[in-house]
Amino acid sequence: MTVLVLNCGSSSIKYEVFTPEGDGDPLDTLQAVTGGIVEGIGEAGSQVPDHAAGLDAIASRLREEGLLDDLSVIGHRVVHGGEAFTQPTIVDDAVIETLEQLSPLAPLHNPPILEGIRVARALRPDLPHVAVFDTAFHGTLPQEAYRYAVPQNWYDDHGVRRYGFHGTSHDYVARRAAQALGRPLGVLKLITLHLGNGASACAVDGGRSVDTSMGLSPLEGLVMGTRSGDVDPTVIFHLLREGLSPGEVETALNRQSGLVGLSGSNDMRAVEAAAADGDPAAELAIQVAAHRLRKYVGAYIAVLGGLDAVVFTGGIGEHSARMRAAVVEPLGHLGLSLDAAVNASCNASDGPVDIGTGSAAVLVVATDEERMIAAQSLECVSSGS
Ligand code: ADP
Repeated sequence: MTVLVLNCGSSSIKYEVFTPEGDGDPLDTLQAVTGGIVEGIGEAGSQVPDHAAGLDAIASRLREEGLLDDLSVIGHRVVHGGEAFTQPTIVDDAVIETLEQLSPLAPLHNPPILEGIRVARALRPDLPHVAVFDTAFHGTLPQEAYRYAVPQNWYDDHGVRRYGFHGTSHDYVARRAAQALGRPLGVLKLITLHLGNGASACAVDGGRSVDTSMGLSPLEGLVMGTRSGDVDPTVIFHLLREGLSPGEVETALNRQSGLVGLSGSNDMRAVEAAAADGDPAAELAIQVAAHRLRKYVGAYIAVLGGLDAVVFTGGIGEHSARMRAAVVEPLGHLGLSLDAAVNASCNASDGPVDIGTGSAAVLVVATDEERMIAAQSLECVSSGS
């Protein structure tokens, strides 16, 4: 049962192959066999004109490694599953049609993924293809968390609600956190912070997502590499009245805001280095991002009615001791504190590390969305759903 996991972006396709070895939790028994990325798809001067060529290149690599004929299932990461998909789902023509109808909800993210699924199905019609949705883990949000206080028909007619994203990662690190704490996930109150280029927080109660910071789209919530996170919607109308076009404002909020908007760089390593050199804009970017994170942690402790652990993951969460300290150190009154030396030296790639010294644990956990997608794809195929 070898699984190929595909993650299609607008100009890239990431892939990873897993095969199960032995019995037990698939998260532990799946072995990563190979993986890589095809980049520059459709870009000027690129050798890879489109997603079909990109997948051909991946198929050739797998053939060379003698893996192509071993594949038994292909798992696809899909960003937006709307309300239609709250479980990993075997792709058929009806699923494709529903995904096409969802594209207006995720115009930046879903179309390249759909293209990837179409091409992959054409290439390997003999295999089951499973769609695993970033939104699915948040299918358990209660109404009071997912509804916005806007006219009812915006929800009924236009699908305006909180969907939440990064669900595969929040789900994965919550499971790993339970393993690390040696307690059943079902009894734990966790706040998971996925801090990569995109960033989101999730309140996880007994393994179920009960609130999350991203909303209708991945734009809401935390300060990200290039996305603003929360802003007053009036900012948009103000700028439109000042003469910017809707497209310019949308692009600016998605691509020119967040860390890059405040400091000039979307890369936290560069922002931290500039701040250490005394750059006030870089220092401000870190402060704004940390302030937003602390607000969400406080809010989610209130939502959960308690806290067993805060979990840091994603490139920044796993590697930035400075950001972890900036979030946790001021929250001693909420039962959070950390060991500065363990925080500075921890390496989550060998397994979760507890850097906390307060009543709640502070865990650093390396995420592995591809592994989670592989496990869920296998489970979906074996249960036939
Ligand atoms: P993506 O969301 O694209 O998967 P990642 O999860 O890899 O991104 O996170 C990328 C972010 O992690 C970047 O801002 C990068 O600067 C940051 N990062 C990676 N390593 C470090 C580090 N050692 N210190 C601070 N930030 C880091």
